[in-house]
Amino acid sequence: MRIALLCRNPDLYSHRRLVEAAEERGHEIDVLDTLRIYMNITSHRPALHYRGEQLPTYDAVIPRIGTSITAYGSAVVRQFEMTGAWTLAESVAINRSRDKLRSLQLLSREGIGLPVTAFAHDTRQLDDLLDMVGGEPVVIKLLEGTQGVGVVLAETRRSAKSVIEAFRGAKVNILVQEFIKEAGGADIRTIVVGGKVVAAMKRQGGEGEFRSNLHRGGGASKIKITPEERATAVRAAKIMGLHVCGVDLLRSNHGPVVMEVNSSPGLEGIEGATGLDIAAQIIDLIEKTAKPGKTKTKGTG
Ligand code: ADP
Ligand code: MG
Repeated sequence: MRIALLCRNPDLYSHRRLVEAAEERGHEIDVLDTLRIYMNITSHRPALHYRGEQLPTYDAVIPRIGTSITAYGSAVVRQFEMTGAWTLAESVAINRSRDKLRSLQLLSREGIGLPVTAFAHDTRQLDDLLDMVGGEPVVIKLLEGTQGVGVVLAETRRSAKSVIEAFRGAKVNILVQEFIKEAGGADIRTIVVGGKVVAAMKRQGGEGEFRSNLHRGGGASKIKITPEERATAVRAAKIMGLHVCGVDLLRSNHGPVVMEVNSSPGLEGIEGATGLDIAAQIIDLIEKTAKPGKTKTKGTG
């Protein structure tokens, strides 16, 4: 197959592994810098160009779009969709997963367990908003944050209000969430590939840290998950419309709750913790699933 990997940094562990896995299986894989792809969006025959030349037709596109370039990156993916190319993550699904509020609304509609979450634009009724999520302590998050930056634990009503007011004063959108204390600063990252959980790890935040992000100094270890956790991750992936994703769960005293779904999960932590070859499973899935014209949205969403 001829595969395009869209990413900014070809040296990143995840990207190197995907290239390795594709080449081991005899595929030709081009690594393209997402921001250097350009396109004529008015043409009848949608095309993409790169370094002065039109790109060939690919059997599959693997988008690894970083959060800082979601808008341009998803436009590039949408353009590939318009040419009929098959993509591992569709542009609408990438956009869906990048917006925490939108994701939580979609998941809640389908009855997925979630931390009790509230969202408001206006800050005039903060007491009611905080009561809605069960009162302090609460977690306050930037809607488009990542790697634990922009996730704050407010232990008192006073601090919750000042953090919310500060964020809103800076014109950023936030959500307010029940603090799942019983998770003990740990979460579970599951990797779903083709509707199956293929790997799971527990991430534990450092001493005194409630955020378990590996980028914040958390540690990872292999974990066995329950059938309920497995089913929750698989359903979340399906609702988000992602062939491959990372589904993050917290163990709450009301069952597993989904915190977020990541459309380009990193492979280094999970392959290191589990010893599994996830990159190979992703390429296997592409071999089984990629067909021209099989993209659902064809750039319509
Ligand atoms: P990011 O996108 O920045 O990773 P997350 O929503 O995943 O943001 O939050 C970062 C970390 O903070 C999570 O991995 C988890 O350990 C912790 N955390 C987030 N929300 C809650 C919550 N409601 N209760 C307890 N811990 C939480
Ligand atoms: Mg996270």
